[in-house]
Amino acid sequence: MYDELNLSNDYDMGESPLLILKDIQKESLDVRSGLLILAVFWFHGAVMEGPADPPQDPTSARIAREIKAANSIWRTPDGSRKIEFRPIRYYDADFEIVNVDAETLSEEKTEAIMSLGNKVYPSADCFVFYIPGENFSNGAVAKAYKRYINNKEIYFIIMSNGARARIEDRWKKGNDYALAHELGHILYYSNSFGNNSDPDPNGADSGHHNAGDKGNLMCPTLVAGEIPTLKEEQIKKGLESKFFVS
Ligand SMILES: [Zn+2]
Repeated sequence: MYDELNLSNDYDMGESPLLILKDIQKESLDVRSGLLILAVFWFHGAVMEGPADPPQDPTSARIAREIKAANSIWRTPDGSRKIEFRPIRYYDADFEIVNVDAETLSEEKTEAIMSLGNKVYPSADCFVFYIPGENFSNGAVAKAYKRYINNKEIYFIIMSNGARARIEDRWKKGNDYALAHELGHILYYSNSFGNNSDPDPNGADSGHHNAGDKGNLMCPTLVAGEIPTLKEEQIKKGLESKFFVS
């Protein structure tokens, strides 16, 4: 009661008391856990490590490993702060959009994929699309996006085959934590205070972590096949996502 009294004394003239109260609550909120609902889609030719192709098993080994990796790293060792990523829908997308491939992915196809996600599962927090192709035309193997459909914020990730962890010619390639990295971008993009930067940013590339701290999950590149690190400050930052702060 006493705090409320103080707050009411602090109202600026001309501003809505309700708005000010909401802002103050947000800034003082210490969010300890969050749940992000993922709708997962895949296209024919995406390597899912499931059984017959198609149809593919929604419990695909690749999806299971990558989501497990994300859940294991976006939490403090003692579990006092944690973000849970829960896949609640799997969907075979080829009936809707054909010839999707990372190497030739056009703006039109990107828009079509995003719209499909929003149409099929509008209440998901984030969509994850697994598509064929070893990488995008700029060399990236996975990408995170924030876009809009009719003023609604749409968050989605596209994973190419090149992102997946495997051994080729006796070399480790890809990383099970690539999805966890992209989910980090989604958490930063959806920051409640509009601060999209990593707490220790990589210079002007502020959405990534300082590249000097090699091996950190949010560095611009992940080391193939190695388990990355993540600092508590980054987990705290992730917990500021609008999906967890109300
Ligand atoms: Zn990145």
